[in-house]
Amino acid sequence: MKYYSTRDRKNVVTATQAIAQGLAADGGLFVPETIPSSTLAEIEAFCKMDYRSRAVAIMGKYLDEFTLAELTAFVRDAYSDNYDSTEIAPTRFVNKNTAVLELWHGPTCAFKDMALQMLPRLLTASLKKLGEKREVCILVATSGDTGKAALEGFADVEGTSIVVFYPRDGVSDIQKLQMTTQHGKNVFISAVEGNFDDAQTGVKKIFSDREFAKSLEEKGAFLSSANSINWGRLLPQIVYYFSAYCDYVNSGKIKMGDEIDFCVPTGNFGDILAGWYAKKMGLPVRKLICASNSNNVLTDFINTGVYDRNREFYATISPSMDILVSSNLERLLFMLSDDTSVKGWMEELKTKGKYDVGAKVLSKIQADFDAGFSSDEEAKAYIRELFKSSGYLMDTHTADAYAVLANMTKIGAEFPTVIVSTASPYKFSDSVLDALGESTVVSGAGLIEKLEDATGTTAPKPLTGLEGREVRFTGCTSKEEMPDVVMSFLTK
Ligand SMILES: *Cc1c(COP(=O)(O)O)cnc(C)c1O
Repeated sequence: MKYYSTRDRKNVVTATQAIAQGLAADGGLFVPETIPSSTLAEIEAFCKMDYRSRAVAIMGKYLDEFTLAELTAFVRDAYSDNYDSTEIAPTRFVNKNTAVLELWHGPTCAFKDMALQMLPRLLTASLKKLGEKREVCILVATSGDTGKAALEGFADVEGTSIVVFYPRDGVSDIQKLQMTTQHGKNVFISAVEGNFDDAQTGVKKIFSDREFAKSLEEKGAFLSSANSINWGRLLPQIVYYFSAYCDYVNSGKIKMGDEIDFCVPTGNFGDILAGWYAKKMGLPVRKLICASNSNNVLTDFINTGVYDRNREFYATISPSMDILVSSNLERLLFMLSDDTSVKGWMEELKTKGKYDVGAKVLSKIQADFDAGFSSDEEAKAYIRELFKSSGYLMDTHTADAYAVLANMTKIGAEFPTVIVSTASPYKFSDSVLDALGESTVVSGAGLIEKLEDATGTTAPKPLTGLEGREVRFTGCTSKEEMPDVVMSFLTK
């Protein structure tokens, strides 16, 4: 299967090239030339398989350069005892027709593991097939979840190294501990003075620094990204939509072929876009409901066709969705229009911060998507309410999706729905404790114990183990010194 760029249909590459390059040279994102289909008979067969076999079958449709044996080995390594659930991505019913798809049973307790446990395998295999001899250095700026998930994915992976920068004042205590205690010989983590934008700007500058690239080249290395613009991160996410559908059928609550809705807590539009690909492949999905927090740029876009990032930015209790420019939306726009339109809109976004896709594209979007947003107060109220009524504890991002569904009066309604749950509540213990009306005077690892005591639930192992672990990285750098920090780690 071929892939092409969203900004130039003539820029055609193979799957391995798309994964190795990450971003197209023209600034666009790579998308598959055609969307493979799945018949109901095939989906019926998936229902009898475990998660790993479902993943091999679905990912294989997009990766014809890889053999079945290769994909089976990747999947076996990516989803094994690094997950604390043998089901990998279990679905749990919180009432008659509402299921929660838990995507946080991996090593970092957030859904990013579903893709970032797979990407290093796809990337190193792609580089090998392309005859690439240089070592790849993954450079990441993170607001929390991506950094840790990328570290876990790339730690001690041969032929790679990874450097992560996080804002000194911008991540939770637990997220910071998760990163600074990371094991692995090929990893380096540093705080950056300032906020996430400072870290992000510094990383972008290194990516566009030709001198830096030349020095790296002399050392036999090159830079790459583990960001969700890489097709190798999107693809593994298509699998869990099929998997959740099969779990729903297996529960006996729907029959094969019945449609369901998915409600997805959304930031960069990667997770929900994977759901859209699943729908276009033939999965019986009625609507994908895009849930935002107070940064509701996508709610407005899906309701009006106007994308406008010129608005106030809010720091919310669901920080992984605090985002005003959703990169992966570009892929959807391309699939629903053409490369020249997309190029123009992205140019307008850059110059005016705003674009309008017009009535025709809007009606196509609305055929597949609904949208809504939730305030912090609403999300907290639903965390408390659901825990009190059913004993189910959800995190702040999942709670935004729950609140959006509740506001549409879809919770407990007849139509079958899946809420995509993106993080363990323990990852955001402080906000969850606050939602339950508990005090949060303790900090760091103490919050985890406090949440266990308050709810009688058990924290995931990767988080309880944090307290005793050695902090390996204590450094903090200025934005200006970031290139030197990367270079001195790579030449050490
Ligand atoms: C990254 C993240 C999201 C948003 O996912 P996108 O693919 O960026 O839309 C939602 N919740 C959590 C916990 C995340 O880490």
